[in-house]
Amino acid sequence: MEKILAINSGSSSLKFKLFNMPEEKVLASGLIERIGLKTANVTIKYGNGEKYTDVTSIADHKVAVDILLNLLLRFNIIGDYNEITGVGHRVVAGGEYFKHSAIIDDDVEKKIGDLAVLAPLHNPAHLIGIKAFKKQLPQAISVAVFDTAYHQTMPEENYIYSLPYEWYQKLDVRRYGAHGTSHQYVAQEAAKMMKRPLEDLKLITCHLGAGASITAIKDGKSFDTSMGFTPLAGITMATRSGDVDPSLLSYVIDKNKNEVPDMEKMVDILNHKAGLLGISGVSSDMRDILEAAPTNHRAQLAVDIFVKNVVKYIGQYIAEMQGVDGIVFTAGIGENSQPIRSLVMKRLKYLGIEEDVANNATFGKNIFVSTADSKVKVMRIMTDEELVIARDVQTLKKSVNYVSAN
Ligand code: ADP
Repeated sequence: MEKILAINSGSSSLKFKLFNMPEEKVLASGLIERIGLKTANVTIKYGNGEKYTDVTSIADHKVAVDILLNLLLRFNIIGDYNEITGVGHRVVAGGEYFKHSAIIDDDVEKKIGDLAVLAPLHNPAHLIGIKAFKKQLPQAISVAVFDTAYHQTMPEENYIYSLPYEWYQKLDVRRYGAHGTSHQYVAQEAAKMMKRPLEDLKLITCHLGAGASITAIKDGKSFDTSMGFTPLAGITMATRSGDVDPSLLSYVIDKNKNEVPDMEKMVDILNHKAGLLGISGVSSDMRDILEAAPTNHRAQLAVDIFVKNVVKYIGQYIAEMQGVDGIVFTAGIGENSQPIRSLVMKRLKYLGIEEDVANNATFGKNIFVSTADSKVKVMRIMTDEELVIARDVQTLKKSVNYVSAN
């Protein structure tokens, strides 16, 4: 039995889950937010529904890691730091270099830093977390699990843009995708639910959270995905635009200099002020938008465009794969929003999909939301990116132990 930490560190936050492996039991989970401020928030859940919260001054990630480990000791979740034998870190951009998870040595650390050009907000923040944990837990193996790695199986025709090919060769401009760990996990769970080998299935996984992406999975591998060079592409998201015509960018900068003086501001707006928020003017949260929709045209329009985009990508991927066996809804909206699942399924009736209304109204477990006789199965599956991270840490740890034992 060993304890493994799955970490998602942002520039001012640290999300964690501690697992007992290999039984995959969650011992504790939590979040430290507003790192760098005097009013940082600490939340830890553990035991039988126990919860600890605190507001305190946390200068940097090293202090945050100290606080976290001390709380794990204080609540007897660990008896000693040495019990934590591995730490897995979510890393957003792995470029073409990382096709699998990797043990973080000095070279891997440097490479994650170099790849910050592809994820300027994320990769540097991950590195801060990686360094802080390495310092406090030098005995634990440190592993990077990349959001992009799962999509490295896409065929060339699905990752090369219709641009000068030299841009790919010289500048690494291509589709990388994201949310790979989530798509991989829910695809495996879908195959279990359908009682068929994953390799035999054509699946479309819809990760609909604040960030949203849709992936076509063929022969058990990522075949195409809606996010692109960065997570800005694809379907409408909470505050991200998804696909737009690039010609409109220079047009708007030219015509609207006061609000959008340059490309930097434009990209900021496309990331933070567009999507559901931009269309509705109400909120970036689908719950608020659905509530407002009956009496607010723009909120209703945001719902309609979101649903249309999901349906459009599903249709595109069915055409690309020449069929589909199962469709999965996951992440914040996909797992929790009965109305959005229902609206999407209504528009997929042509595939022989019928909503199982009773199942679709349930919460919190993996379930078929299409009827048993639907030709294409539709599932709601609760994603668990942290579990994939913990599993990868264990797998890599075993390979190291094997090499050192031989
Ligand atoms: P991320 O990890 O990208 O921040 P999540 O997967 O946690 O996103 O999803 C967060 C989103 O899920 C929120 O933007 C919220 O709109 C949406 N969400 C959560 N619960 C519901 C619900 N019951 N109905 C509709 N949307 C929901």
